[in-house]
Amino acid sequence: MSEEDTTTPPLFTDLGLVPEILAALEELGYEEPTPVQVAAIPPLLEGRDVIGSAATGTGKTAAFALPLVQRIDGKGRGVRALIMAPTRELAVQVAEAVHKYGKRLGVTVLPIYGGQPIERQLSGLRRGVHVVVGTPGRLLDHIRRRSLDLSAVDYVVLDEADEMLDMGFLEDIDAILAETPEGRQTALFSATFPPRIRELAERHLRDPYRVSVRPPVLETPLVRQVAYVVPRSYKLEALGRILDLEAPTSAIIFCRTRTEVDELTESLAVRGHRPEALHGGLNQTQRDRVMGRFREGTADLLIATDVAARGLDVEHVSHVINYDIPQSPEVYVHRIGRTGRAGREGTAVTLVQPREHRLLKGIERVVRQRIEPARIPTVADLRARRMELLRAELHEILVSGEMDGYRGAVESLADDFDLLDVAAAAVKLAAEARRATEPEDERDIPHWEPSREERGGPDPRGPRGRMDREPRGGGGAGRSGPMTRLYVAMGRRRGLRPGDLVGAITGEAGIPSRAIGSIEIADQFSLVEVAEEHADHVVRSLSSASIKGRKVGIRRAREGVES
Ligand code: AMP
Repeated sequence: MSEEDTTTPPLFTDLGLVPEILAALEELGYEEPTPVQVAAIPPLLEGRDVIGSAATGTGKTAAFALPLVQRIDGKGRGVRALIMAPTRELAVQVAEAVHKYGKRLGVTVLPIYGGQPIERQLSGLRRGVHVVVGTPGRLLDHIRRRSLDLSAVDYVVLDEADEMLDMGFLEDIDAILAETPEGRQTALFSATFPPRIRELAERHLRDPYRVSVRPPVLETPLVRQVAYVVPRSYKLEALGRILDLEAPTSAIIFCRTRTEVDELTESLAVRGHRPEALHGGLNQTQRDRVMGRFREGTADLLIATDVAARGLDVEHVSHVINYDIPQSPEVYVHRIGRTGRAGREGTAVTLVQPREHRLLKGIERVVRQRIEPARIPTVADLRARRMELLRAELHEILVSGEMDGYRGAVESLADDFDLLDVAAAAVKLAAEARRATEPEDERDIPHWEPSREERGGPDPRGPRGRMDREPRGGGGAGRSGPMTRLYVAMGRRRGLRPGDLVGAITGEAGIPSRAIGSIEIADQFSLVEVAEEHADHVVRSLSSASIKGRKVGIRRAREGVES
């Protein structure tokens, strides 16, 4: 880590970025650089090679992509920068990021991956682009067809290098790098550094600057810590349910960007909460007003970015909720330190997307405690919880005896009805009146479980419990095909486990387990990823077979259910 002054955190304006990029970051609502960005951007802008140890979610994409767009600057002819990524999803995501960061500089970008018709990529390449983001297999295909010329490349990034090696791309990477000029600048990012990665770096990087955002060991305050692993598309619904279940008296909910703060504030208001947004875009008067409403309890939820919450003077909140998992463990510890103060009880809730699971591991190391992913409350759980609260309130009224004005109504019904029935009808009315204010999404939220590999052991089901893996193995074309999600109409309630699905798919369809990606088991259904090339065959084979002694429906999952 660079020797930064830790008292005043650096700003994007301190890193040497040009105004066009600062404007793009402003538009995206990024308020300050993450630790990996602070450490990696200056040396990359100077033209140095960099080795970065950073997992997804730390902001590593911007750490290499901002210097990349600034250095190539939309000038020159031919492909000027090359980014290699392990999967189609990551390649597309990185290409989108490069586009957003570099559009004001006129930087053009094209993602290239297996599974997409090669013609579209060929015409894109013929038109000319500055940046190519690709999976190694398909990049090599293009090099062999002579449709990709890397002789003008002066900036190369190997993203998620450990994943690429795990997928058997080592030789392809070597072959691709051999096509680029010797004098190029190279950055390598990886979450882990096994010897094979170190050797790769030694072969291809020159005197690299090392960026490792190693967290100091910190004390954990006495706070109950809970995490929920939720796909992105379910986050809002999950948060709604968690708020119902936890019923915080006051809470700060942290988001990564200003834009997210505004969106979440609006969504929570629609759901009947009283949220206030706090971010760097507010002036002092607006800020004071927001804080006033939060302190006096007119607002019960404060939705904030880290920057806005810094130096915030709030006595105590019952809950700190990380709507986005923080990008470093220090930020996590800082955030959750706002609850559990002065010996009072506090709860920290963190929502983690499946692919951010590694960040949670980093946090666990720093807080020296396991944070087991909890199950998202189901609609039935919430009903039960609401009934419990209602019963407690009824109990209070009965004990206090304050119901004089209502006895008459009961008496007039008592001649015709059983008193127990009259009471039950009254409870029903009260329960329904409450429900009416809380819109409910009956969707079953899939529960994600780390694979055995992620928990530290070998995993019999092959690929990890992640959602964006390309199939491995094989050579050349065909290895980088995309994945497809299938919906299986059987879930946890019927005792279904990931191994059952893997067994059924490999056994019935006869495809290798490495062609199976992530598996999510919900109460009533499951989602399983298989290589697109096998998808129809798997659907056909399983439609006539049975799982755990039953026939089950299986089809392609609908768009939008995916994270
Ligand atoms: P990455 O680790 O590159 O996958 O980034 C994780 C997420 O953080 C992405 O959604 C980025 O848009 C977002 N992000 C990256 N840098 C920042 C920043 N400085 N402030 C807020 N959000 C950021």
